[in-house]
Amino acid sequence: MASEYIDTYYRRTLADAATYYPPLAGSDSADVCVVGAGLAGLSTALELARRGRGVTLLEGRRIAWGASGRNGGSVSPAFSAGADAIRRHVDEDHYRQLYRLSMEGVEIIRANIRDLAIEDARKVDGRLRVVRYEATDALRQWCDDQQRDFGRNVRFLTRNEVRERLLSDVYFQGVEDPTSFHFHPLNYARALARECVRLGVRIHEDSAVTHAELNGAVKRLKTEQGQIDARAVVLATGGYTDGVVPALRRAMLPIATYIMLTEPLGDRVLEAIRSTAAIGDDRRAGNYYRVLDGGRIGWGSRITTRVDDPPDLAESLRRELLSVYPQLQGLRVEAAWSGRMAYARHLMPQIGRLAPDVWYCTAFGGHGMNTTSIGGRVVAEGITGDTQRYKLFAPFGLAWNGGGFGTAAVQLTYWSYQARDWWRERRSRA
Ligand SMILES: Cc1cc2nc3c(=O)[nH]c(=O)nc-3n(C[C@H](O)[C@H](O)[C@H](O)COP(=O)(O)OP(=O)(O)OC[C@H]3O[C@@H](n4cnc5c(N)ncnc54)[C@H](O)[C@@H]3O)c2cc1C
Repeated sequence: MASEYIDTYYRRTLADAATYYPPLAGSDSADVCVVGAGLAGLSTALELARRGRGVTLLEGRRIAWGASGRNGGSVSPAFSAGADAIRRHVDEDHYRQLYRLSMEGVEIIRANIRDLAIEDARKVDGRLRVVRYEATDALRQWCDDQQRDFGRNVRFLTRNEVRERLLSDVYFQGVEDPTSFHFHPLNYARALARECVRLGVRIHEDSAVTHAELNGAVKRLKTEQGQIDARAVVLATGGYTDGVVPALRRAMLPIATYIMLTEPLGDRVLEAIRSTAAIGDDRRAGNYYRVLDGGRIGWGSRITTRVDDPPDLAESLRRELLSVYPQLQGLRVEAAWSGRMAYARHLMPQIGRLAPDVWYCTAFGGHGMNTTSIGGRVVAEGITGDTQRYKLFAPFGLAWNGGGFGTAAVQLTYWSYQARDWWRERRSRA
């Protein structure tokens, strides 16, 4: 029986629920086998197919069943690692090349939606980043730098301008970014899958790879019912990476984050949110949200190393929303869910080669929409020999995750960020 998507807004509004790609059965072969059909795997498969390669894509559950089909849908430049963290590993020129790649990732999604006419991706332009403390000088400077260094059309918003859009006392200033956007990631992912198939990619859902022989010239991957021989393999299993390739699992920290969907609020939502943009505050693991159809709010929050869902998830997210917008008292929650992201300790994507013709394309953290798109492209270019842009990620390798200590360290770091956020905001309120 086919696996199901978990209950999310995206499953409830899935455009092509009927399409199913049957599991791999028996023996087959491919030029390249991509493992994992999140946006990293799909992007890799599509970019390879566009370059004329024969690709098989194996997915353990359903297309974009993982983080790619259940996220906040916000598409903007940058990485999970901030600019200063990246600059600790690379020089200024290298940093700028990476940042431009992150911008290219946004353009890849925009171009796919346009060229493949993916109406049900429900793209809405605009992103609004807000802060909960006085930051006029820092945000003005940031806007100037982005304009000067990358030609980005971002605009500083005063506190009054923020309040015209978001009727909350917690926010101070903000930045408006009209060229970023938000969308329906699951419908987008499934549209990419259809395009892959049109270009000859063979896709198999419910085909978890359980065994991998990656040493020979021909790589062999086994699933419950089949096996495939391939010249090259791309591992793109994100936060759901298991122990099939131990070196990958050892380099990855699974981190969860949560989203809830409110009831349709109709025009009542305008008492709180008067913007159609994707909204995010700049706490280290802050709130990210947007207004969806019918005035529903899709409200995302928090990161944690805890991988099972807390029992009071919906209610705790509801309380969080009300702490920002108390005027929405009484609102009901229709659904709440979690998703798992892969983080490397350096917070940058892990893109490169484990061995000749064995590629990995993972660890996109909480900034995966643009970065999986570029990850797929640079890996495809590496396989075909078109470019070696994947080497830009070489300084961020498969660093060991630190085992149990690594997980504890992440949780401690998160708590320390929360404490820093609290202190900074308290000073602004004083
Ligand atoms: C709740 C949430 C909100 C987020 N919000 C945003 C946002 O607004 N903007 C943004 O840019 N990023 C966001 N992110 C991050 C983004 O979703 C991820 O970084 C990105 O989707 C990762 O894509 P991926 O393809 O690497 O992994 P995934 O999408 O998780 O895909 C990995 C796939 O591999 C499959 N798999 C695993 N093991 C095997 C195996 N052995 N064999 C075959 N298949 C296997 C899994 O079933 C899964 O489908 C969010 C993440 C979450 C969880």
